[in-house]
Amino acid sequence: MPELPEVETIVSGLESVLPGLKIRDVWTDFEKYIKEPKSFGKFKKEIVGRKILGVERKGKNVLVHLSGNMTLLVHQKMTGHLLYGKWKEKKTPDGKTAWKSAIPGPLRDDPENRFIRLVFFLSSGFQLALCDMRKFAKVLLWPTDRLAELKDIGELGPDPFDKNLTLKKFKERLRGSRAIKQVLMDPKIIAGIGNIYADEILWAAGVHPAKKTDKLTAEEIKKIYSSIKPILRRAIKARGSSYIDYRDAFGRKGRYQEMHYAYQMTGTKCKKNDGGIIKKIKIGQRSAHFCPVHQKPPQIK
Ligand SMILES: [Zn+2]
Repeated sequence: MPELPEVETIVSGLESVLPGLKIRDVWTDFEKYIKEPKSFGKFKKEIVGRKILGVERKGKNVLVHLSGNMTLLVHQKMTGHLLYGKWKEKKTPDGKTAWKSAIPGPLRDDPENRFIRLVFFLSSGFQLALCDMRKFAKVLLWPTDRLAELKDIGELGPDPFDKNLTLKKFKERLRGSRAIKQVLMDPKIIAGIGNIYADEILWAAGVHPAKKTDKLTAEEIKKIYSSIKPILRRAIKARGSSYIDYRDAFGRKGRYQEMHYAYQMTGTKCKKNDGGIIKKIKIGQRSAHFCPVHQKPPQIK
């Protein structure tokens, strides 16, 4: 799933091309994407003719702000990524619509960019498209000044880059007794961190992912807190992790997958050169990767 660095990369890409353009039409072969308004017909009627004012990230959500106090919210979920390009419609032998990129390069040639399910036709002659193999993405239209009413926005914890998220506030948010990895991945506690970056942050902080938050020392909390932004910045600089299907707004891969410290590095030498070999365990339903040498397992009494 695209996490903060991936969504940030897509948003900055879209922000460089979308503002000022008008939405002329919209197409989908999967109307269930649209959660608000309740039908695709209404959605289309509401969105066509609006001008794009700007693009913003909130947690893992992409917000496309439109004229007339409306915002298009896209949560890309498991395999979704928004693309900006130009596609030509072609019918498949079974009569369905498929889209072929008119632009050579990754939009046309990278198989991860071929699942075009939702297309916004823009006044530039280009299109904004949702590519989504698994079809879990969520799309809705909502008044901009009432976005906080949406669970996806209203219940979000602070952004890791929010200046008000001090060490003290971060510490307060860790109350309870859950595995620290699960807490870092909980969007109500802190927004935008998922499986990849929780592993990377805990590796950098030297804290075992299964350690319970009420057992963390003040020093460990400080190390986690001060690892969050550097890890996320490093990943944004690398344009995100394309470990599987994530691509940027122009269909290009990120490079962070070549720089992982812990995530999916099972069996490799710890990059701290401490002799550790990265291990994989399960915490809840999710995997966690860590170095058993510098991320000591919690004492079980
Ligand atoms: Zn290590």
